[in-house]
Amino acid sequence: MTRIVRIRRPGALTFVVGLATAAWTAEFSATAFGWISAHSEISRAAWKVQPQALQDLWSKPFRLPNGKESSRPISEYLISRWSGAPDSAASRKSRDEFLYYEGDWLYHYFVFSPEENRGRAERGARWYFEHIIAAFREGRSADAARYAGGFAHALEDRSCPVHAYDGYAQERELLETKYADRGLQDSDKSFRGDVRSYSAVWFVDDQDVKVSIAGYQPKPLGDTPEKAAIEVARRLQTISDYTRKICSQDPNVPGTFLNEHLKDKWYGPSYFHQCGPATVALLEKMARQSAYLVADVFLTSYRLSGPAKSLGRNRIESRELAVERRERLDPVKYVLKTRSE
Ligand SMILES: [Zn+2]
Repeated sequence: MTRIVRIRRPGALTFVVGLATAAWTAEFSATAFGWISAHSEISRAAWKVQPQALQDLWSKPFRLPNGKESSRPISEYLISRWSGAPDSAASRKSRDEFLYYEGDWLYHYFVFSPEENRGRAERGARWYFEHIIAAFREGRSADAARYAGGFAHALEDRSCPVHAYDGYAQERELLETKYADRGLQDSDKSFRGDVRSYSAVWFVDDQDVKVSIAGYQPKPLGDTPEKAAIEVARRLQTISDYTRKICSQDPNVPGTFLNEHLKDKWYGPSYFHQCGPATVALLEKMARQSAYLVADVFLTSYRLSGPAKSLGRNRIESRELAVERRERLDPVKYVLKTRSE
């Protein structure tokens, strides 16, 4: 599932908003399938609970490629732009050096078996941790935020109904067949009219979804990038399981996701489907799960970038990483290298 549809929300842009803002928002307008504004909501919620020292670092103005200071802080780029980077890279079909790839696969959709997903989740998480840590240590805090945004995006997608079924097509099909009498299998309520594809019920309009984890104390995920990456892979699975658990509850039981969302105008000419307050409340519950993990990821990356000697043998060799970064831009070299590992 890679089809990307650009969506402009009615009312999102008004006449008083200038072209510069339009360009800013266009960068992170959206996929048709999952979270749109929820990405910035979740990233912002995670950012707000970070220790003051990290907040200070990412509150500095972003230095533009021309050397001038942007009017926006690094945090705003992280929240509103870089945490949308995997969607933008996919829609432009371009490679982004701040995102993790294995061959052609981008760290974004986990559509493989649970075991394979776990391996990919872990390898990518380790790569992100190492690159964020190296960037912090070299004083490139904007680069650190850029890696962190792409990393966060993939974790955030796991709490979104349609992406929670990535890798679980059979489970989703069984569910749609089970509740076929509610319209889940109708061709006009299926993606591109194909009943074997996703039912439109999983596509949600998230514009009213608000996320807060105020009071949450982010936790270190591990004392080395390797250990933290294992923990990220475990939590990523837990979030996907949690989202699917809520999504699969009996629609005949009041208050369940399907019960509530089936009362909404959940299908129509676009894949942009209305959600009433009860559905939104459930989406917020799902979104919070990924906000906790993203908060933990930001904190862990920052903590691990502390004095190198405290990390012992896991000290990041930044020169090696710089070489690796160059190699990744050469896909042939990178694939050969990953295969030989
Ligand atoms: Zn995405």
